Order: sequence, then structure tokens, then C-alpha cells
Amino acid sequence: MILGALEAGGTKMVCAIGNEQGEVQERISIPTVSPQETMPEMIGFFQKRHIDALGIGCFGPINPVKGTKTYGYITTTPKLAWQNFDIVSTFEKALECPVGFDTDVNASMLGEITFGAARGLDSCIYVTIGTGVGVGVYVNGGLLHGMMHPEAGHILLQRHPADSYGGKCPFHGNCLEGMASGPAIEERWGANGVQLAGCREVWELEAFYIAQACVNYTFVYAPRRIILGGGVMHQEQLFPMIRRQYRELLAGYVHTPELEDLESYIVPCSLEDNQGIMGCLQLAVEALHS
Ligand code: ZN
Repeated sequence: MILGALEAGGTKMVCAIGNEQGEVQERISIPTVSPQETMPEMIGFFQKRHIDALGIGCFGPINPVKGTKTYGYITTTPKLAWQNFDIVSTFEKALECPVGFDTDVNASMLGEITFGAARGLDSCIYVTIGTGVGVGVYVNGGLLHGMMHPEAGHILLQRHPADSYGGKCPFHGNCLEGMASGPAIEERWGANGVQLAGCREVWELEAFYIAQACVNYTFVYAPRRIILGGGVMHQEQLFPMIRRQYRELLAGYVHTPELEDLESYIVPCSLEDNQGIMGCLQLAVEALHS
């Protein structure tokens, strides 16, 4: 079976060919310009490989809810050229094959569930912390959609008493993305995360916000594991700080076997940053079987 995978990002489109074992055989990257310019290039790539199905993990917001009028659309994205663009039907018509569609973070979540750190679990959370913050949610054996996909990167957090930074999110200052994304770190401290790698106070504050978010995810979704990925989480010193502050915030309220061992509860992503593209392959598999 020949599967196509598309990790659709705001700056680049990663198109790949692979199989149902999650093995990627070929991969190219195309700059994200406009549908008029970018779609024909991607369609040409997949047409030449005669794929049986395509899986798309897409930047958002999108509509992943089947049976609704705008299913398969990129909706209110700030990338104006892509606003209200029907990406799923465009591929379906051109490629004449089933197309699976979800958010980029849900695709990463699916990659980790199928091939990686969450294999075999019935519930898990995948958080990516980078330019923005996104959260993929897997519960009761499936990716979570309600009226839309969760936007759990924008949960509102308590500000640290010593933190006067206004927040990077234009909608809500003190949401997780506003307080803890890569651009928030850079604006607050005047240097980027890599340059600040040795500054303990930077990462203790970062962990303060990420730990709060993780506790909220535990309370709301009851996941069996929380996976933290994205560029900011390449700062591995964060993990012990997050686990310590998480334990304090939990305050002994919840007791499960999973929470006994936070080193295997709050973990880094496991597929060397291939979780997204591998999840897209799995979206293609599921589209083929649905
Ligand atoms: Zn926000």
C-alpha cells in the first residue's frame, strides 16, 4: 500500500510517501505560499506516486468534524490566503482517493499512540510548545473532536506573582501560549530559548506555566500519559522542573498508579520529531478503512 502524508504548516508543507508501518520512504518540503501556488505542486507530487490514500495534519483552526458543512476546511487562520479553503475536497477531487484530515497536533498525538511513547494507551495528551502551543487529545481510544478540535493551548493560567509580562497571545494575555510559547520567552527575556539555556530562572518560570497546564489536563481529560514536544521542549532541563511543580500543584488530590511515577507520566516525544508525519500516515490508513 502506498500512503501519502502531508504535514501542512504555516511556513512549509511537508509531503511524504510511506506505509502503514509508519516508515517514510520519501519526503519533500514546499514553502506555504497560497492555495493557487502551493496546491498544484503538492498534488503533482502525490499524483506521480499513485497513492492509495492521503492523511493531512493541518495548521489551524480547521474544521475536522465530519458531516458538517465546512468539514475539511481551513477556517479562520491568520494566513489570509488559506482562510476558508476547502483543502480536503481539493485533494479528493485531484487524487481520487480517500483523505484523512485532522489538526497537526492531533496527527502528532496519533503518531505517538500508533508508533511511539503512547503505544497501546487508551488515553493520552500531546502538547507541542514552540512558535505556538497546540494540544492533541486522545480519549477512549479516539482523537477528541466536539463542535471543533480542542484549543487547549489557550487555557487560562494563573500568573506568577513575580511575572509582569503581558503575554504574547493577542486574544488572551495569560493563556498557556501567551505565557510560555517560544516567542513569549523571547519577548519576556530579550533573548531566545537556546541563548537562555543556562538561566535557571527562565526555565523555572516556564515550568511554572507548563506544570499548571498539565495539572489542568489531568483534571479535565484524565490522560494516562502527557507527552511534551515542540522546540521549547528541546530544553530537557525543563522536565524535572515541570514534574516537581506538577506534583506540588496536584497537592495529593489524585492518586493513580500512573501518577506514582511522574518520569513515565510526563515524557518527551519519542519519534525524533517524526511523530507528525507518521501520524499523517496513520490518518491515511484510517481514511482507507472508514
Ligand atoms: Zn490565547
